Amino acid sequence: MKPQTASDLDRWAVGWTIRALVLIAFLAAFAVPLGFVPIIAVATEEGETAPQARSEPIIIPLLPSEPTPTGVPATTPVPDVPHVGIIAGHAGSDSGAVCPDGLEEVDVNQEIARRVVALLDQHGWQVDLLDEFDPRLNGYRADALLSIHADSCNVPGKSGFKIARVESSYAPGPESDMVDRISEAYHARTGLEFDPHTITYDMTRYHAFYEIDPSTPAAIIEAGFLLDDREILTERPEVVARGIADGLIYFIEGTPP
Ligand SMILES: [Zn+2]
Repeated sequence: MKPQTASDLDRWAVGWTIRALVLIAFLAAFAVPLGFVPIIAVATEEGETAPQARSEPIIIPLLPSEPTPTGVPATTPVPDVPHVGIIAGHAGSDSGAVCPDGLEEVDVNQEIARRVVALLDQHGWQVDLLDEFDPRLNGYRADALLSIHADSCNVPGKSGFKIARVESSYAPGPESDMVDRISEAYHARTGLEFDPHTITYDMTRYHAFYEIDPSTPAAIIEAGFLLDDREILTERPEVVARGIADGLIYFIEGTPP
């Protein structure tokens, strides 16, 4: 139909404009991506030489785009398993305290430490059983480090346990929590009382505190006295170990025993 009036002319123009837009949309949506219509370069990439003949259009091949990730990660994420170190006091070094009948602290410590490691291992944690001067302590990084000792055999009438962190701590908050929670759990499990009066520099300036990575919360426990607490330490080491394991779980997982 040919336009006759101004109104017809408007309709005619609008009609062709819409047709043109539809054609452009079609080209953009299908023809260009499929390669039917070449893209004519109007500018060259930096560093590229300019085309010699401007009259010849440069056809840029349309390469398939990089495959997008489908949501399946390349590596399976490692579950966040707590990692702790347990030092068997004096192991690999010396006897520690010795009782008149020959009972040695190191043997008591090792029995308890071995049981703590087994319990935490069963709990699904990654646990290192360490010697007193274990080379791995140098820069040791973990969620917690606990050294297990027992107290002297020459103090009649003395009973109870004590636990201490390093006296000047890089991370006093976590370490104080560690001390508090192990104390609470250990007392609940063993019935032994916390004895704050005989904490010595041997404990607060314990060598391992200065060897490990400063970000690792660490503490040392004297699990009981070898004389008056001998029965629980040597005949019920599973209870002692359970108390220590409970305390570490309480500290790291926040689950009260
Ligand atoms: Zn000791």
